[in-house]
Formats: sequence, C-alpha cells, structure tokens
Amino acid sequence: MTDTALYPTFSRADLAFVRGEGVWLETASGERYLDMMGGIAVNALGHCHPRLVAALEGQAEKLWHVSNVFAAPHQEKLARRLVETSFADRVFFTNSGAEALECAIKTARRRQFHEGRPERYRLITFEGAFHGRTLATIAAGGQEKYIEGFGPKVEGFDKVDGFDEDKVRAAIGPETAGILIEPIQGEGGVRPVPRAFLAFLRRVCDEHGLSLIFDEVQCGIGRTGRLWAYELFGVAPDILASAKGIGGGFPLGACLATEEAAAGMTPGTHGSTFGGSLLAMAVGDAVMEVVTEPGFLEAVAAKGLKLKQKLAALVDLHPTLFEEVRGEGLMLGLKCRRPQGEVLAAMRAEKLLGVAGGDNVVRFLPALTVSDAEIDEAMARAEAAARALLQAEKGAAA
Ligand SMILES: *Cc1c(COP(=O)(O)O)cnc(C)c1O
Repeated sequence: MTDTALYPTFSRADLAFVRGEGVWLETASGERYLDMMGGIAVNALGHCHPRLVAALEGQAEKLWHVSNVFAAPHQEKLARRLVETSFADRVFFTNSGAEALECAIKTARRRQFHEGRPERYRLITFEGAFHGRTLATIAAGGQEKYIEGFGPKVEGFDKVDGFDEDKVRAAIGPETAGILIEPIQGEGGVRPVPRAFLAFLRRVCDEHGLSLIFDEVQCGIGRTGRLWAYELFGVAPDILASAKGIGGGFPLGACLATEEAAAGMTPGTHGSTFGGSLLAMAVGDAVMEVVTEPGFLEAVAAKGLKLKQKLAALVDLHPTLFEEVRGEGLMLGLKCRRPQGEVLAAMRAEKLLGVAGGDNVVRFLPALTVSDAEIDEAMARAEAAARALLQAEKGAAA
C-alpha cells in the first residue's frame, strides 16, 4: 500500500471489515472471519454487543461532552463501580492505555513529592514489558526499537532482566519511587509473572515506601476469568492502569489508586480534555455491568480452560509447529516453532484471526462472550491451518 494518506506506521493486512457481531467480522463482500484477537483484547464483549450499542445510542441523544470544569456524576458512577470492585479508592479517566500509564507514573512520582521525598522519581520496570507509545511509556517499556530516533529517552526508568528478586533489590536506590509491571505480559508474548515474585514486589514496596503499579491494560476487566488479573495472584497494587477491554471498543482508560498513593494528585496536577466523556462513561459503565453480573467471570474462566486445553491438544498433535500454550482465562499464547507470521497467515486463510505477540507467540484474545461452539469452530480452523502449513512444508520438500 504505497498510495496512502496515512502514516505508514502500521504494517496492515490487506483486509478491511465493515460489520461485526459477537466474535464475527465481515468484509464489504460479505466474507465472515472468526475473530479470536478481539481488537487486541479491546472488544471484551464482542462486536456491537446490544447493551453497549444501547448505552452509546442512549447517551448520544442526550449529551456527549462537557468540560471537566463541571461536576461529573457520570464519571462518579463508573468510578464507584471500579472502586467497589477493586483495591482502589480513587480513579482518573483517560482515553487510552498509554494515558492511563502516564497518569500512573505521575501519581507514583507525585506521591513521593507529596510525602517530602521529591528526589524519588524513578520506576523499576521489566524486560519484555509494553506500556504504550508515548514518550514516557516507550521509555518505561524499554524496547530499543520503539525508542530509537525520538530524542533523549525520558529519564527515570530502570529496567530489570527477568523476574529476579536480587536484581530488583539491587535496582532500588535513593531515587526509586515505585515498581511498574504487567501481572501478565501481553505484547511480550503472554508471559504470566510468577505469583511469588509479585508477592515479593509487594513486600519490597512496603519495606521501602514505594508504589507498586500494575499495568492491567490488557489483562484486566475479566480477561483472566477474574475481574482484575491481580486477584489471580493474591497481590494488590497501589496504582493500576486499565484500558482496552474497559471500553469494549470505545476509547477509554482509567488510572486507579489507593487514597494514600493518589494523595499527591491535588487540584491542578493533572487533566484531560476528553477523559471521562459522557459517551465513554456510558459504555464503560455498561461493560462493567455485564462483566460483573453473577456467573459472567466463572463462564470466562471455564471457556478459557476449554480453549487452553484445545490449544494444548493442538501443540501435542503438531509438535513440529508449536511448542507450548500459556496464559490465563481468555488471554492465551501459542508459542510457535515456525515464524508466527506464517501461522497467522495460515489461520487467516481459514478465516480465523489471531494476533502476534513477542517471543514468537500467536495470541488468542477473543471476546469474553465467545461461546463453546465458537471455540470449537475456531480450533477446527486452527487445526486446518496447521495441516495446511505441514502440507506446504511437504510440498516445498518434494
Ligand atoms: C495496549 C497496551 C498499552 C497501551 O495502550 P494504548 O491504548 O495503545 O495506549 C499499555 N500497556 C499494555 C499492557 C497494553 O497491552
């Protein structure tokens, strides 16, 4: 695609969709694809969920946006839901994950300032992390390919290799303000952090008066079968960044914090023009309402287990193509032995959509509403894709 008016920053597939329903996406010519990537964990309730459509349409007729200089009962309502279902006492609404992370980083730094330790501003981060594409979040993620050519790297992030307690202890200095981690790395290739390591981070943060920040932009909002991924690990953070699934496809992010951690975020210290718009709040509230209904998360866990078992069977059947399956709930990664791009292309030929992750992984991040029959159908297509790959291999060898 050379003839484009867009920044060519994405390597886009030559495939456009015009309609969606549940886990199905449709092209203009009516071809239907089974969507197991869910807009990269964004379409938590699938495409055009009737309750999200109703929430959005209902609000669109009343009021879209008012400035954050006015009282915000619409924000208060969703914030209450988030606070009542989490560790947090305070919420700031954003429009994206990176913005939620920016708020989290500022909150952690400002807490130290507020507590009389302004020299503490650095955050410890981890190899394989992804936190977004703003200047601060590329520095936090620490991936050279995202940082190169954009001028001086934003100061204040100390990357640790591996989930290693000694290295974390060694990285803590007089300027450390907190520790930032994804409980399950998403872009890094669906890599869950060991429970004992997260518990260690909690202890070390308490020992040193640091903020523990969880990036749950990808793994939160029911994705793991628990509302918040941290519940799986039994370790609560001080600050948490949420986005992606919380808006179900509408741009929405949130930074959650305890009262103590957010104490420095006083009037005037942060802001956003669009953050917390009435449209976003209406949709976010509907997402939270559905995800917290009795039985919803249990069903996600059951479907996650089913999909994981089916993917494990695929690995067993094709050990030359696949190495392992990992992840929690409906956040699963299939580690490939062949380049992941070939696997994704073979899947696409079967009209099955997955998404690449680091460490040569194909991610499965379907709508949390995916049915058992749709999981069966997806895996039948994945199996057909695997057979086609092996067939092509034989053809090439002959
Ligand atoms: C996607 C993602 C982000 C960035 O979110 P944007 O909405 O693209 O800014 C940050 N952290 C994690 C873990 C993500 O998966």
